[in-house]
Amino acid sequence: MVYFDSAASTKPRTEILDSFLKSNQECFANPSSAHALGREADRRLDAARKKILDAFRLPAQYQVAFLSGATEANNLAIKGVAFSYQNRGKKLLFSAVEHPSVLEPIRYLAEHFGFIPVPLAVDSLGRVSLDTLREAMDKDVILVSIMGANNETGAVNDLASLGAIVHEYPKAFFHSDLTQAIGKMDIPFSSLDLFSYSAHKIHGVKQSGALVYKSSMRLVPCLHGGGQERGLRSGTGSVALDESLALATSLAMSSAHQATAHVRALWQRLRDGLQEEPVLLNSTEEGSPYILNFSLRNHKASVIMEALSQKGFYVSTMSACSERTDQASATLLAMGLPKELAGNAIRVSFSEDNTLEEVDAFLSHLHQILKEVHPR
Ligand code: PMP
Repeated sequence: MVYFDSAASTKPRTEILDSFLKSNQECFANPSSAHALGREADRRLDAARKKILDAFRLPAQYQVAFLSGATEANNLAIKGVAFSYQNRGKKLLFSAVEHPSVLEPIRYLAEHFGFIPVPLAVDSLGRVSLDTLREAMDKDVILVSIMGANNETGAVNDLASLGAIVHEYPKAFFHSDLTQAIGKMDIPFSSLDLFSYSAHKIHGVKQSGALVYKSSMRLVPCLHGGGQERGLRSGTGSVALDESLALATSLAMSSAHQATAHVRALWQRLRDGLQEEPVLLNSTEEGSPYILNFSLRNHKASVIMEALSQKGFYVSTMSACSERTDQASATLLAMGLPKELAGNAIRVSFSEDNTLEEVDAFLSHLHQILKEVHPR
C-alpha cells in the first residue's frame, strides 16, 4: 500500500495515540469540576496551550482555543471577527481559492447579515499578489483571510508581506488557514492576528484542532453554553484530545526542517518522472513540497485514480472535500486552467513517511496504466 493522500489526512503517530490513551485513562475528570482532579485536568489543558504557543515560538499575547478542527477554527475566526467588529466595517477579503470552511462562512455572512465579500484573484501559480491585496484594501475591511498553503496545489502565499499590507489598516485583522502549512514550511506566525489548523493533518487524531488568536481580540463565539475556552467554545474540554494536539504540534514543528527536506526530494523525483507523461503540472517548486497536482491531458482522472487505487496507490482527484461532486476544481479554474484540465486533475500528497522507492513504484504503475487505459 502506498498512501499519497496525506493532504486529506495523515496516519496518526503511535506516540500520539499512546499519549491520547494515557491521558484518557489518567485525566478523565471534567476540567470545570472544582475538586482536585478537575483542577488537575484544567491545569493540564493550560499546559497543553502553553506547549502549542512554545512550539510556534509565540508570546503569551496569543491564546489557543481548542476546537474540533480547522473547519470550526475557520468558522470561529471569520464569524467571530465579523460579528464582533461589524461596527468598524463590513468588508471580508479572502483569496478566491480558500477551503470551503473559509468560503462558506463568508458566503453565509454576506447572505444573511449584509457583510461584503471581496474575493482576491490568484495568479497562475495560485497565489495572492501583493498588488491584488493592496488594491482591495480600504478602511471598510475588517478581516483578510489568506491560506498559508493551498490544499489542492500546494501554492504558498507570502504571509509576511501580505500581513504587512493588512496591518497598514489598523482596523483590519489578518487570518490564515494554516491547515496544510504547519510543520511543512516557514511561517511568520507573528504576522498573523489569528490562524487555524487541524491535528489530523500533522499525524494527530481527527476532530481536534485549534484557533490561535491574539488575546486582545474579542471574538463572538459560535457555540454558546458553559463558557469553556474563555467563553469562545462551550462544551466539556478533552484533556486527551488537547494534549494529543499539543504533542502533534510540537513534533511537527521540531521535525519540520528535516521532514521538509526529505519530502522535497520526493516531490522533485515525482516532478521529474511526470515530465515523461502526457500531463500538465499544476504545482511548482515555489509551492509546498507536500503536494503535487497535475492534470491528465488524455485520460479521465477519476478512471486513473481508481486504477491506481486498485494497484494500492492512494491519491486524490482534487481535495477530498469536493472530490465527490464531480465538478471542475474551482482552484484550478481560478488559476486560469481551461475547464477540461481543471476537471481532470490528480493530487499526490506526501508525508515524511513516504519514500523515494514509493515514488518510483508510483511512476512506473502510472506509466503502465496510462498506456493501458483508453484515452478519453
Ligand atoms: N482548510 C484546509 C486548507 C484543509 O485542507 C482542510 C481539510 N481538508 C480544512 C481546512 C478543514 O479541516 P478539517 O476537516 O479537519 O476541519
